[in-house]
Amino acid sequence: MFEKILIANRGEIALRVQRACRELGVRTVVVHSEADREAKYVRLADESVCIGPAPSSQSYLNIPAIISAAEVTDAQAIHPGYGFLSENADFAERVESSGFVFIGPRAETIRLMGDKVSAKDAMKAAGVPCVPGSDGALPEDNKEIIRIGRAVGYPVIIKAAGGGGGRGMRVVHTEAALLSAVQMTRTEAQTAFGNPMVYMEKFLENPRHIEIQVLADQYRSAVYLGERDCSMQRRHQKVIEEAPAPLILQRHIARIGDRCAEACRRIGYRGVGTFEFLYENNEFYFIEMNTRLQVEHPVTEMTTGIDLVQEQIRVAAGEKLRFKQRDLVTRGHAIECRINAEDPFTFVPCPGKINSYHPPGRPGIRVDTHIYQGYTIPPHYDSMVAKVIAYGDNREQAIRRMRIALSEMSIDGIKTNIALHRELMHDANFVKGGTSIHYLEQKLAQKSEVIQ
Ligand code: ADP
Repeated sequence: MFEKILIANRGEIALRVQRACRELGVRTVVVHSEADREAKYVRLADESVCIGPAPSSQSYLNIPAIISAAEVTDAQAIHPGYGFLSENADFAERVESSGFVFIGPRAETIRLMGDKVSAKDAMKAAGVPCVPGSDGALPEDNKEIIRIGRAVGYPVIIKAAGGGGGRGMRVVHTEAALLSAVQMTRTEAQTAFGNPMVYMEKFLENPRHIEIQVLADQYRSAVYLGERDCSMQRRHQKVIEEAPAPLILQRHIARIGDRCAEACRRIGYRGVGTFEFLYENNEFYFIEMNTRLQVEHPVTEMTTGIDLVQEQIRVAAGEKLRFKQRDLVTRGHAIECRINAEDPFTFVPCPGKINSYHPPGRPGIRVDTHIYQGYTIPPHYDSMVAKVIAYGDNREQAIRRMRIALSEMSIDGIKTNIALHRELMHDANFVKGGTSIHYLEQKLAQKSEVIQ
């Protein structure tokens, strides 16, 4: 096991990784920007290094500063958390060529899965079902593009191979609009991602977002740890996640999970990862892989009893997987609500000082957060400030516990979306389960009509 790990991230995940390290007996170094100097989790770490001013481009994305911090503190490995540099293949490469272990997959795997066209090719080869569409990137020839559009069938979606974060996509409803849409997406993709390559997929009208968690060691052993339903989204940002996914047969999950584990063995995947699928009419369609720890990993931890961050660190240190697929059992139900510092109506981020904070607590409730009374949320970063996770023997109990937790929780001094979560926990369609990725947006649109 490592003696010391550097955590190249901030906020709740920096604290989450620290806690995992502490239980493993690993010392921690936290790097931070000037804006995060006073944060309590920075003080809790064994060591901390300031790596630059508040803007992330000068701190949390500053590769040379992070590598130097690892050098001066004698860390052996770097944990990238999620966001920031966690899916940056160049960073992973620099970390390893500087003599440290990158806690994540190899740089070439990140690169392979970061390009959505090559990722889809790799998945197809492993027998993972993908959204029907163009075989690889779209050609230059207009006639050929039109032929592919007809074969796929409208509506279609044009997506940038290098896209991410919900950008670089365009839905096309008719053949008349196709060529100009392809052209526009290409131009945007070149500007935004430095890669003009685009591809075409059938546009699924009412899918759910279902994802499979995987864990693999360096010796081509891989398992899947069940699924998560992350369909409750606003602007492609997840708001609520849960495990298992309501109303999907477990044998159906097992079939797709096995394919994902097989894909990991084939590409020599290492660490934790997530295969994201759209799910419609009882079929799974792969859309992309995230080659890192996810925000929503706690719901999987609650239902499998496995500390994913610790296992991630163990396999990065060269340990073999400690369990086989048949050893894994999922039990009960877990739901996570992402608490954001934002205006509940306009969704504009709302940083500032927390005057009073009352966290919920009881059996089955977990709160992952770095905030406390008197903490000032800096304006420079993501607005998510806490995750409340409720676990129960079944979904009904998890929802009941979440309702109680949210009714107790208060964060005063800033605006948050706690009220929205309280409402969603009583929403008849959420309670029924199985809503599509458009449900929350549609509900919010109706609400704003009523207000107007
Ligand atoms: P990103 O990497 O930008 O997150 P994804 O490929 O994961 O891009 O797609 C983001 C979101 O866009 C999906 O969660 C879904 O809401 C929508 N989307 C992507 N592909 C399709 C498709 N073929 N049909 C319908 N919606 C899609």
